[in-house]
Amino acid sequence: ARERIARHAHQPATTRDGHTVQVAANIGSAEEAALAAAHGADGIGLFRSELLFLERDAAPSAPEQQTVYTTVVQAMEGAPVIIRTLDIGADKQLPYLTLPETPNPALGIRGVRLWAHEPELLDQQLDALLLAARDTRPPHGPPALRIMVPMISDVAEFMTIKTRLAERAGALEIDALPELGAMIEVPSAALSPGLARAADFLSIGTNDLAQYTLAMDRESPALAARMDVLHPAVLRLIKLCIEGAHGNCPVGVCGASASDPLAAAVLVALGIDELSVEPARIGTIKDGLRQLNVSGLAALLPDLLTMDSAEAIRQTVSAHLATTK
Ligand code: PEP
Ligand code: MG
Repeated sequence: ARERIARHAHQPATTRDGHTVQVAANIGSAEEAALAAAHGADGIGLFRSELLFLERDAAPSAPEQQTVYTTVVQAMEGAPVIIRTLDIGADKQLPYLTLPETPNPALGIRGVRLWAHEPELLDQQLDALLLAARDTRPPHGPPALRIMVPMISDVAEFMTIKTRLAERAGALEIDALPELGAMIEVPSAALSPGLARAADFLSIGTNDLAQYTLAMDRESPALAARMDVLHPAVLRLIKLCIEGAHGNCPVGVCGASASDPLAAAVLVALGIDELSVEPARIGTIKDGLRQLNVSGLAALLPDLLTMDSAEAIRQTVSAHLATTK
């Protein structure tokens, strides 16, 4: 199996019944982009730009950021590259940013909420992204670089960034705007059909969506065993999100669940268009999808979604996949 996986890693992941799913990579540095390309990634589904900002005394300058973003897009040779704006707060802190103290950091200033306090930092990052998108844009067609905003909880929050991006593009005289997407990590965002109309794409961050849906700290070892994206409540939210989005924009998943073959199968049955996974998992996830009959598993969804636990769902899906192998 390992040899088969490696041999086909660079081919598209088309299921038995003919659905092609994009299998992209999650990365945190320019070096990892080369690794993702070598592993057969169909694109970058999540570049965690905050890693550029960690372990330093000051934020990276716009030109410094631009160089990194350009390198990542070039490494992927025209495939789509989704770069996430700085996602700081909660578990990740920066010494040069003093955020208001709060007893519950996971519910405080984090992700997109930072920009109300640090507008200059936002402009620097947007400028770097716009310039990198312009410089790497293919001669025909839209920029390969796409921008994604973390921790969105409603449409107004997304529109603030969308408006600012257009203003910065105007100031830089850039007319081909990169696509702008919203991460779905908060239940209120998953339940907002308006976001799918405002955004060019959605990407579900299942690590945070599970944390906020189940009210369980994702960092808590004591709760780790119960934090499962296949919890029926999380799956129902994902289903509503996809139903609200389709017809408007595509929906991906870039949380750790996309790297779990069983969860990946369920996500695709729910209608997910793209899975973004650790570079080393690309071959395995593509291989699993090629053995999947999406309509067979989708027919099981009404039963799965009315189950009471993630364990029950896992058992049923696992048995179903074993009989259809
Ligand atoms: C997520 O929340 O699922 C996600 C992909 O973002 P991060 O893990 O960086 O919070
Ligand atoms: Mg997250």
